[in-house]
Amino acid sequence: MKTADADKPRKTKPVPCIRCGGSGYVHSTVEGGRCFRCHGARRDPTIHDWTYPAGWTAEQIAAFLAEQDRKAAARQAKRDEKRKAGEAIVWAANVEACPAIAGLAEADPHSDLVQKARRYPMTEKQRAYAAGLLDRHRGAVAREQEAAARRAAGVTVPTGKQTVRGIVAGFKDQESRYGTVRKMIVRATEGWAVYVSVPAGIDPARGDTVEFTATIERSDRDPLFGFGSRPTRARIVTQEATR
Ligand SMILES: [Zn+2]
Repeated sequence: MKTADADKPRKTKPVPCIRCGGSGYVHSTVEGGRCFRCHGARRDPTIHDWTYPAGWTAEQIAAFLAEQDRKAAARQAKRDEKRKAGEAIVWAANVEACPAIAGLAEADPHSDLVQKARRYPMTEKQRAYAAGLLDRHRGAVAREQEAAARRAAGVTVPTGKQTVRGIVAGFKDQESRYGTVRKMIVRATEGWAVYVSVPAGIDPARGDTVEFTATIERSDRDPLFGFGSRPTRARIVTQEATR
């Protein structure tokens, strides 16, 4: 036996809790029977994992344990640093392969895709998805800026019976008591948009330019948005190029 170790604490095996015998539970209805000595931790809270030299004072033991904690924290910090460095490399590789993810990180830093890309290499599918998301985001920002400028300039959707010409921006199936009605949003070049039933006689696609006559009512919330009713004399002016 090495005498040099006699003045050092020795690591001992954890001792099972002397109240619950290491099960973590006692016969009690309090806290669902969780052991009140170890609080369910199973190890005895006062019989430590260390055996101290016979002459050690409580202060020496406390100082030793504090040093153990400090070392554990330092190890954890080192692990965190290593993980962060690894993640920085992963992120840089992702940005190089998919510049859109960097743009997306600025636009929407908390997005699920950005969070994942900070930790794992992106799949091809994710890269394509990121590019699409960024395009959509930029489009929405640009549209909102244009709309704000138009509102500031006093542009409003015309009301009453109007002939509307614009691009179909999207569709929505709306339930009514008469069944499902297919609605569309048409953006006019003047900068306003109208929500209206797809008129009978035409079957437009997104991106098509359409023309119709309808009675338009302005939205209370957005002067650039109107609700059209009873659309007539509808035609598709031009079809979207990719159709
Ligand atoms: Zn216990």
